[in-house]
Amino acid sequence: ILKITSLHKSFGANEVLKGIDLNVTKGQLVFMIGPSGSGKSTLLRCCNRLEEPSSGSILVDQEDITAAGADLNRIRQNIGMVFQHFNLYRHMSVLDNVTLALRKVQKLSKEEANTRGLDALKRVGLLEKASAFPDQLSGGQQQRVGIARSLALRPKVVLFDEPTSALDPELVGDVLKVMRELKDDGMTMVVVSHEMGFARAAADHVVFMDAGKIVEQGTPQQIFGAPTHARTQSFLARMS
Ligand code: ATP
Ligand code: MG
Repeated sequence: ILKITSLHKSFGANEVLKGIDLNVTKGQLVFMIGPSGSGKSTLLRCCNRLEEPSSGSILVDQEDITAAGADLNRIRQNIGMVFQHFNLYRHMSVLDNVTLALRKVQKLSKEEANTRGLDALKRVGLLEKASAFPDQLSGGQQQRVGIARSLALRPKVVLFDEPTSALDPELVGDVLKVMRELKDDGMTMVVVSHEMGFARAAADHVVFMDAGKIVEQGTPQQIFGAPTHARTQSFLARMS
């Protein structure tokens, strides 16, 4: 459902992605690890055109989203993104945050947007917080609102960039539980995270990136249990 081929990205003279090939099939959870600066965020950001790839192609359901004239709104509807910092609007209710893009970008009626928004909030277990304001929620709950905001767009794939890194440790579990439920519901997900326990339990495929390249990939058992590359081994040794 997501096919990345020979993706390169440079910032000026700094080549950050040096030919990435990655295929994510429907319903898969691909977990991505790698040192700081290896290009994980840049890769995710290229997938919904928050960054412009320098070359290569990214197919979503056969459609090349890097093509000139590709519809950015539709790309961002199809490829949801959840960030470390959830960036909710503090002056808007939870439901209004979740439905904002539905109303402003997709031009749905308020009723239709609210129906979808409430459905998304239900999936993350926050239906009863629909009329609360972000400041009244815990960090974990705010991140679940961030997830609901992407789900409301009915994406084909959701990309998560360190969704739990900004959270207090005791709040991490609730967010991971929601992600696990999404996976069990069949959502296709790419997750950049340091939560190796989650990866072991929920990932279908683990990708190790270093210095702009995919160095090694395989099942969680392969990557965590028997990594073959020295760089994967030393990265995992530092993580544990
Ligand atoms: P981390 O684990 O710290 O989040 P990462 O693997 O997500 O790291 P990226 O954020 O993708 O790494 O950054 C990869 C490289 O690209 C870094 O060297 C970074 O300085 C550079 N970079 C990222 N965004 C930009 C930008 N907008 N302009 C210039 N350089 C950038
Ligand atoms: Mg990053």
